[in-house]
Amino acid sequence: MSDRYCVFGHPVGHSRSPRIHALFAEQCGQAMTYEAIEAPREDFAGAWHAFVAAGGCGANVTVPFKEEGYRVADVLSQRARRAGAVNTLIHGRDGRTYADTTDGVGLVRDLEAHGVTLDGARILVLGAGGAVRGVLDPLLAAGPQSLHIANRTAEKAVSLAADFHPQERGQHQTRVTGSGYDALEGPFDVVINGTSASLGGELPPLPETLLAADGVAYDMMYAADPTVFLQWASARGARTIDGLGMLVEQAAESFFLWRHVRPDTAPVRDTLRREL
Ligand code: NDP
Repeated sequence: MSDRYCVFGHPVGHSRSPRIHALFAEQCGQAMTYEAIEAPREDFAGAWHAFVAAGGCGANVTVPFKEEGYRVADVLSQRARRAGAVNTLIHGRDGRTYADTTDGVGLVRDLEAHGVTLDGARILVLGAGGAVRGVLDPLLAAGPQSLHIANRTAEKAVSLAADFHPQERGQHQTRVTGSGYDALEGPFDVVINGTSASLGGELPPLPETLLAADGVAYDMMYAADPTVFLQWASARGARTIDGLGMLVEQAAESFFLWRHVRPDTAPVRDTLRREL
C-alpha cells in the first residue's frame, strides 16, 4: 500500500503541492499518494489526527494553518521554533508529531540555484508577516553583511528585527534592522518581496535608490506574468526572480524529510513554469 501524504489548507484547491509531489514521487520511484485536504478552520488538530488515524504519514500545512501546525506539534525543529510556524508535519514511528518549516531553506536554495551570493550581501526584506518570519533564520545563516526589514506597519518590522538580532554566525555578525518604507535607504544587493501586495497588483512605496547597480529582486509570489514588483525592479536594471523556484525547493525539502530522498528540482520547476 502507498504511503499517504497531503497538504492542509482552507481553501486548498489552488495548491500546486499535489502536482509537485506527484512529479517528485514519479521521478524518485516512491510509492506514495499526496492529496489536498480542506481542513475546517476551527479544527485543524482534529483534521491532522484523523488523517494520521487513517494511515497518513506526513503533511504540508498552508494558509491559514501554519501556526496551528506549530501548536499541534510534539517536537519542533529549531528553525520552526524560531519561525513560530510550520509547513511540514511528520507522523513519527513513536507516534509523536514532528514539525519543521522549509520555506526559508527553499528560498535560500532557489537564490543559490540562480547564482545569487548572500554571503556578505546587503539584504532587504519587504514585509513582516508569516512568510518573512519563516525565512529570516536561513537567510541569516547564509552570512549577509546586513539584513533590513521594511514593512507598511513599521512597528512590526522593528519588533521582528529585534527578535532576530544580534546574529552571530561564525565570523559574521549580521546587523538586523527594521523600519517603515519612509525610512528606507538603499542601495541593497538583494531585495526580497515577502509582502502580499503583489497579490493585489500593488507595490509598496519604494525609493529610486533601492537597488545596487547589479542588484537582484526576488518576489516570493509567482504568476504567469512578472509581478508589479518585478516589473518595477526590472525597469531599474535589476535581475529578477519570482517565487516559483522557492515553492518547488520548499516542497523538495519536505519530501526529503518524509522520504529521505532528494528529488532533482530543476525539471519539476520547468514543468510547473510551463503549466502556469
Ligand atoms: P501575511 O498576511 O502574514 O503578511 C502580509 C504582509 O504583506 C504584511 O507585512 C503586510 O503589511 C504586507 N502587505 C499587504 N498588503 C500590502 C500592501 N498593499 N502594501 C505594502 N505591504 C502590504 O502574509 P504571508 O507573510 O503569509 O505571505 C506573504 C506573501 O508570501 C504572499 O504573497 C505569499 O503568496 C508568499 N509566499 C510564497 C511562498 C513560496 O513558496 N513562493 C511561501 C510562503 C509565502 P502590514 O503588516 O502592514 O499589514
